[in-house]
Amino acid sequence: NATRLLGKTVLVTGASSGIGAATAVLFAKAGSNVILVARRAEILKQVADQCLAAHKESGLSQGGKFAAIQLDVSDKAQVAGFLEKVPSDLRDIDILVNNAGYVLGVEHVGNINEADIEGMFATNVLGLISVTQLLPSEFKKKQAGHVINLGSIAGREAYAGGSIYTATKHAVRAFTGSLLRELVNTPIRVTEIDPGMVETEFSLVRFRGDTAAAKKVYDGIQPLTGHDIAEEIVWAASRPPHINIAEVLVYPVNQA
Ligand code: NDP
Repeated sequence: NATRLLGKTVLVTGASSGIGAATAVLFAKAGSNVILVARRAEILKQVADQCLAAHKESGLSQGGKFAAIQLDVSDKAQVAGFLEKVPSDLRDIDILVNNAGYVLGVEHVGNINEADIEGMFATNVLGLISVTQLLPSEFKKKQAGHVINLGSIAGREAYAGGSIYTATKHAVRAFTGSLLRELVNTPIRVTEIDPGMVETEFSLVRFRGDTAAAKKVYDGIQPLTGHDIAEEIVWAASRPPHINIAEVLVYPVNQA
């Protein structure tokens, strides 16, 4: 029941494109306030404008407050100072969607350069952990909260060429599972969403902007959309407070 999201405040990392952008817009439609973060400030601002339009269209009186804040989640100093940048009327965060992440260098481990290895761990794992650390004490104080982490099927499987990315997503899964167990008997919920193939900028990033190579990944299959995954995220967040959706695994029908 989406009425549970009315007036809630949601922080979405990686909200400038793909799953994160679709998630921000869907929460906006459901009457939530959204803090959008990513590195590309201009694009982020455009997504915040889409949120505003979606909220207006919904006709709902609750929610409708949006802030686009530039943040590199892999930069520890930026994350440490982040909450001070959040407008005071949005500081009472109810839901965190840890979505920022990427893959580069899907090739033999010996060919992956060090900067890509460190970058993926710094964003997909350490960034997710440091953003999460900002909130549990706040959540505990107000006795409510929900952490939703984006894992992947790559956090459950291993495949040739996927060494670093799968390692980061396995780490996300281990971290999320431990967090869930640490917070048992509290009203704070923890969810992991594990998508299969989703058509977003993800593939373009993976191939360093090579559009043709990025497109080829989806040959012969109908991938999921960012909106499909956003619907799962918003669904998990809108369950009654005694229900914790621990994990959601979503494949396109023609991927296994
Ligand atoms: P996109 O590339 O479309 O979106 C990734 C988002 O992460 C962008 O908004 C990007 O914004 C942001 N981001 C990347 N690095 C940082 C950083 N250091 N600090 C802050 N923001 C950052 O990909 P998706 O929407 O597909 O990916 C979202 C999540 O879903 C990722 O965690 C990914 O691993 C996961 N996933 C994706 C799948 C897919 O097939 N697409 C499948 C399974 C999981 P900016 O560049 O502006 O910083």
